[in-house]
Amino acid sequence: MLSSRRAVVRLTRRTASEGIALVPRISTHRPAQPSRRHGYSTTCTTEHRRPINPAAIVDAVTAASPKDIRYDNVFLRDACSCNLCVNPSSKQKSFSTAQLPADVHPKMTSLLDNGDVMIKWTASGYPDHVSTYTPQQLQRLGDPLARYNARWNFAKPQLLWNAEALEGNLVSRSYDKYLSDDDAFKDVVMGLYSVGIAFVTDAPAAERDTDGQIVVEKLAKKIGYIKETFYGTSWDVIALPDAKNIAYTSVNLPLHMDLLYYESPPGIQLLHCVSNTADGGESVYADSFRAAKIIHDRDPAAFKALCTFPITFHYDNDGHHYMHSRPVIELDPFYRQYHPSMPEYKIRCVNYSPPFQAPFDHHVTQSEIEPSTLTEHGEFREFLRAYKMFEEILYTRAEQFEDKFMPGVIALFMNRRVLHSRREFKLGSSDTAQEYGRWLKGTYLDIDSFYSKLRVLSGL
Ligand SMILES: [Zn+2]
Repeated sequence: MLSSRRAVVRLTRRTASEGIALVPRISTHRPAQPSRRHGYSTTCTTEHRRPINPAAIVDAVTAASPKDIRYDNVFLRDACSCNLCVNPSSKQKSFSTAQLPADVHPKMTSLLDNGDVMIKWTASGYPDHVSTYTPQQLQRLGDPLARYNARWNFAKPQLLWNAEALEGNLVSRSYDKYLSDDDAFKDVVMGLYSVGIAFVTDAPAAERDTDGQIVVEKLAKKIGYIKETFYGTSWDVIALPDAKNIAYTSVNLPLHMDLLYYESPPGIQLLHCVSNTADGGESVYADSFRAAKIIHDRDPAAFKALCTFPITFHYDNDGHHYMHSRPVIELDPFYRQYHPSMPEYKIRCVNYSPPFQAPFDHHVTQSEIEPSTLTEHGEFREFLRAYKMFEEILYTRAEQFEDKFMPGVIALFMNRRVLHSRREFKLGSSDTAQEYGRWLKGTYLDIDSFYSKLRVLSGL
């Protein structure tokens, strides 16, 4: 069932005795040759290239001409998605990679009329197995950039911002539209990813909607499931005299991220302004990814210090004792493995929250420092130099976006990217515990449910 008209499978002798063995080649010129014995490999050149959104972080390689793709036999066998290998209903894989014989190889490879490639796998002591791959599957499996884009090429690209760049890129949609219009909802989700912050306006200036649901929770649940913390499913930010937490007082609250003392801090935060008659109390936001990039481009040693030196964050109060240590900048450790043409780093998240910093737990006293990693001033001093630089950028006015919360407005932001703060405010004399002068209601989402929604809405 070979189509010599469209494409064929060319088989070439293996040169290596083990390791990469299968190199399928689908070319439009050569006649088909059946595979007669193992020890042969297949070379695959497909003309099918997955269309790549021009908004992809890297699009330079999309112009590259089709080239031979070499697959490791176990890798390709492992990727089989037939009904025996992947449960069609649960989509769960039915075997472990470790169960695959290391010498598995194609006994027969053929190109079907519909363009799919069929491979009959064989291995000593194991039953043969037939896998079928679409050209698109093979292309994706064989192209690191395609694999990356299939996970991360969202409908809108990430845009680093300062105050000027944010203008015109900030998405804001009405509460009713967000809840009822698919496009408006998608706009908010994509805008939230792109710049790390988005707004929903014209929501009830009340804790609950007319259906009894808590407004901020209702909004969050449209994206994903709520991340409950020791503050509850949603929580109040109100000025109170006995503040356990700095956020409840009316003093200036510096730029920070929430719950970095968790192993898995919330990825998205939503804040709903229920009421605000206070004088002052403007919200200030800053893009930590941009600050990190500025340092990366300006001072690689400082960038490295921010990527490696661990800060301990903690919450040790009121019967709770949470702690976690992490560097300021966390990079995606596997990113460069996708393709060497990718930009040299990808920030997964930033960790910056001075109000919740504990004394440093690591790499501080002389005896803990590896002599080989010592810089002139020691690791801690190098970190300090970088940290000062980072903070200086964040507190540059042009890097900040300032906004005063009006009742009925909800801010959604990526808690591990966009820093938030609040200027000092004064409550009116008529404010009481019943009639809060400034009342924000907040909730969190895990980053996972957000990325899941992004992928679904982006058609990945
Ligand atoms: Zn299978």
